[in-house]
Amino acid sequence: MSVVLEVEGLAKSFGGVRAVQGVGFAVDAGEMLALIGPNGAGKSTCFNMLNGQLRPDAGRVRLLGRDITGMVPRRVWRLGVGRTFQITATFGSMTVRENVQMALLSHAGRLLHLWRPATDAFVAEADALLARVGMAEQADRVSAILAYGDLKRLELAIALANAPRLLLMDEPTAGMAPRERVALMELTAGIARESGIAVLFTEHDMDVVFAHADRIIVLDRGRLIAEGAPPAVRANPEVQAVYLGA
Ligand code: ADP
Ligand code: MG
Repeated sequence: MSVVLEVEGLAKSFGGVRAVQGVGFAVDAGEMLALIGPNGAGKSTCFNMLNGQLRPDAGRVRLLGRDITGMVPRRVWRLGVGRTFQITATFGSMTVRENVQMALLSHAGRLLHLWRPATDAFVAEADALLARVGMAEQADRVSAILAYGDLKRLELAIALANAPRLLLMDEPTAGMAPRERVALMELTAGIARESGIAVLFTEHDMDVVFAHADRIIVLDRGRLIAEGAPPAVRANPEVQAVYLGA
């Protein structure tokens, strides 16, 4: 299995708060790696350092062997790090297909030259991505009227339009009903496996984590306290004490 992301000694403080301290891990192509831990453990701070939104105080981030530490988000995104956001970032007045076309145009770097509301560029590619996330039938809908779960799938299609090597998903299923959560993560896991995309995600619902993570890393107060396959992490007494509350 080839390594997509390698993180070493990552650290970030906010004033006196050591949000992340000496965190290191790796994610392989096609792997679903869950980053779990209680509120305030430093999960989002890690994500923000991985996509360039925050500059680490210390440590290294390597993508496919290339050092991307401290690069600005746009550059990191261009190198193949996708991110889905908790607040969905679609253009509500456009159709589902147009949103994906827009993302494909943007990925191709021709946004300003090519985009017109009636453009037919990338229609086939957009439809293929929509089919992949199970939204072929909603391609012509205005995205503002989508149900929340569909909006999340559209967001996934938009992220995939950038052909990411690594996908960062910070609480992707927040606000979704349990059945929708399972469906979204099942879909994501299938895409990760078939496309070799490395997925790093956070998730509060432990059923979802144990069902869809290939491996789990656990943060507590900024430190990595456990790493391993789901059954081992579930059985780890330290993890149970600080996180699962068992
Ligand atoms: P998680 O995502 O695991 O809930 P965060 O990474 O959001 O945790 O937060 C880790 C710690 O860093 C918390 O104590 C939080 O209050 C603090 N923190 C996060 N972002 C900031 C910031 N921009 N300014 C100050 N403190 C922050
Ligand atoms: Mg968070």
